[in-house]
Amino acid sequence: MSNSDRLIGPFRQVVTLAGLPPAGPLKDEQILVIQEGGLLVREGRIAAAGTFDELKASHAGAAVETPPSGSIAFPGLIDAHTHICWAGSRAEDYALRVGGTSYLEIARRGGGIKSTVRQTRKASREELAALTSRRARRLLQDGVTTCEVKSGYGLTVEEELKMLRAIGDADREVPGDLIPTCLAAHIPPREDGEGPEEYLDRMAVELLPRVRREGLADRVDIFIEDTAFTAEQARPYLDAAARLGFRITVHADQFSTGGALLAAELGALSADHLERTDTASLKALAERGVTALALPGASLGLGEPYAPARRILDAGGALAVASDWNPGSAPMGDLLLQAAVLGAAEKLSMAETWAAVTVRAAAALGLTDRGSLEPGRLADFAVWQAEDWREVLWYQGSLKPAAVWKSGTRI
Ligand SMILES: [Zn+2]
Repeated sequence: MSNSDRLIGPFRQVVTLAGLPPAGPLKDEQILVIQEGGLLVREGRIAAAGTFDELKASHAGAAVETPPSGSIAFPGLIDAHTHICWAGSRAEDYALRVGGTSYLEIARRGGGIKSTVRQTRKASREELAALTSRRARRLLQDGVTTCEVKSGYGLTVEEELKMLRAIGDADREVPGDLIPTCLAAHIPPREDGEGPEEYLDRMAVELLPRVRREGLADRVDIFIEDTAFTAEQARPYLDAAARLGFRITVHADQFSTGGALLAAELGALSADHLERTDTASLKALAERGVTALALPGASLGLGEPYAPARRILDAGGALAVASDWNPGSAPMGDLLLQAAVLGAAEKLSMAETWAAVTVRAAAALGLTDRGSLEPGRLADFAVWQAEDWREVLWYQGSLKPAAVWKSGTRI
């Protein structure tokens, strides 16, 4: 036993989410719930999870840290898809959209992603880092201990680098982990008469090698959609990214199909959105072990259908859920609320919903060191004060964590 051991507990329940299969349907009976539990923490990681009394007897020298009374511990939430590095407001867009103006018409009037690009380009690296940190801290209070963050509002070499550096600054500033992703391929900027292919070719040559050299990100994303890039345009760009050693993820099948099939073919980490995906694409994702990532926040923000989460699981797929927090389509940024709403709409078991925001979300980011409370994993967890673990989703996200720990330290 190490003299740095700490025993945290007792918790009313510890929900470990350990030992679950990586894909396919789950039943609530597969969830391991430890009554009157404790967590033994050593150097920021879980050394043991068990009943508090047994851990206390077997580790008598461990310092005891008492959590809020009557609390239930879950692994820290993992938000595997966000755009929280942005400046400015899109409230005007939102007012127009809920009033019935189409997305295309808003874009024609100078709104949409391009308005956030204009406002983000005006912000300094320091301002962007501060805005990103503030949003990451909000997520942390909600129990999100790991959060993916995309660039994509720069759309020039220097502006994309500025965003990724700001995300890195924010990661060093906040206790939670921020996982950066280069989304220079968000939309074609169509500036100076440059077409989408030329833009992607230039980014592959001028931007991606610098992102690698500076260690700013090891993930590349692209928006495959009629209004952004086609699958044919995406393929050579993603091939170039893979040759540079990037892991691939794709915005796919939000309004039209084709992106998910390419994600499956390339063996991407995840295919995200999938509101309009078809059965053949779902099967292809499942067969290739590509995580299908649903973004109910975008469905709520746009008034569009949800991704077919039930069908994803029944096809043997790995379902993860993320907030897609962004200033345009998904301004809410509340992961657990959105996962609970999706679960009700799509008939997901509580086990399926919890796995989708913890252990299966970790897999969507290629992370094997977090997402469940078992020996060797990071001691990232949040506690909710409730009588039973099922109450947390029953409150549909309105019950907030009473405390959050990152790498064994209470925040
Ligand atoms: Zn997105």
